Amino acid sequence: MKTSPDLANRRQLAVPRGVATATPVFAARAENAEIWDTDSRRYIDFAGGIGVLATGHRHPRVLAAVREQLDRYTHTAFQVMAYEPYIQLAERLNSLAPFSGAAKTLLVTTGAEAVENAIKIARIATGRAAVIAFTGAFHGRTQLALNLTGKMTPYRAGVATSGSDVFRVPFPITHQGVDVHDTMAALDSLFHNDVEPGRVAAIIVEPVQGEGGFHVAPPDLLRALRQLCDRHGIVLVADEIQSGIARTGRMFAIEHSGVEPDLVTVAKSLAGGFPLAGVIGRAKLMEQVVPGGLGGTYGGSPIGCAAALAVLDVIADERLLDKAESLGRLLRARLAELERSRPEVAIAHIRGLGAMIGFDVLDPATGKPDGARAKRVTSRAFARGLVILTCGAHGETIRILVPLTAAESIVNEGLDILAAALAEQTDTK
Ligand code: PMP
Repeated sequence: MKTSPDLANRRQLAVPRGVATATPVFAARAENAEIWDTDSRRYIDFAGGIGVLATGHRHPRVLAAVREQLDRYTHTAFQVMAYEPYIQLAERLNSLAPFSGAAKTLLVTTGAEAVENAIKIARIATGRAAVIAFTGAFHGRTQLALNLTGKMTPYRAGVATSGSDVFRVPFPITHQGVDVHDTMAALDSLFHNDVEPGRVAAIIVEPVQGEGGFHVAPPDLLRALRQLCDRHGIVLVADEIQSGIARTGRMFAIEHSGVEPDLVTVAKSLAGGFPLAGVIGRAKLMEQVVPGGLGGTYGGSPIGCAAALAVLDVIADERLLDKAESLGRLLRARLAELERSRPEVAIAHIRGLGAMIGFDVLDPATGKPDGARAKRVTSRAFARGLVILTCGAHGETIRILVPLTAAESIVNEGLDILAAALAEQTDTK
């Protein structure tokens, strides 16, 4: 096994720096909620490959399904010769769709591709071009997706086009002084000043913002957006790429609000670590695209579909929706206890749904969110054996995306490390 310094050197020479990595080590093996690096150091994984591993690393049932599929066929291209796992997965996802009425599912490979396709379907179905997205949104790194994404550095700067068909309104975050009323007023102003509603194809919203900081979309916002979309014939797209597939205690986070979207994008935890994404949508909309208008060489790979079918079985059989709720309660309780009993660790705004939990790290002197300090906390946590990520407009939020299959003892061990890393910041500053 090669040690990290050697790999670090080769990586630097061979891979562009644009592909940044949160940790300086290299993976050797992984199991459920643990990863070992090439020097055999063990880490608890609170990142889950950025929310991909609701069912953990290498779930035995996912691996068994993939192995079985490997022995049959690995690729035909669905457009050349179709296969059952794609159809079966579409049927399963249609039955789980968070809206009433007939559903159809398109499978693709990455989250950004799912977003691109959702917007394409909305544009074709409405014959309109404009799209409305939110501040702090993250929808991916491809050209259209990054025009929808609401963060300049490192995503849009120097590359986003003027995006004349993309409009942005503030996402309501009460503790930052923006409420649902402000958002709806901004939409109203947008319709009066910039784009008439009859030109808008879609509004795209994350029911819980992921990269933007784990801010939960208030149910009032989602209800108001639904009404607006109904009034003006606009397609409501729920981007559930990070929040979907059991993470929040429901299959889709938007179910907490009771609001029914028209299109839903999925990826990440859908296939337990294999690249697969999709758009689940109202059949009427999905059927507007002519044959050949949707797809892609690898879209709905048989391996990914086999993995996803096993993931959905595991979610049901291991009761991962309930597990997400109980994990969420544990995370919240321990973080709240830390916030209450150790004010010097300076954390605030614990938030989220189910097991999708984040909190802000503050500068103790000013009480303001502090991205640099949050980064130092995750670095210290890493040094102590915990992989955990930040998010938020200025990197001020620490987010937890631990596998839902993790044993409670591992989660507690991870939280102990996190608490120690937060306390250590206090000691050194
Ligand atoms: N939408 C959301 C909500 C996401 O969290 C992400 C990934 N972080 C994407 C889209 C893009 O997915 P991918 O990286 O697979 O293209």
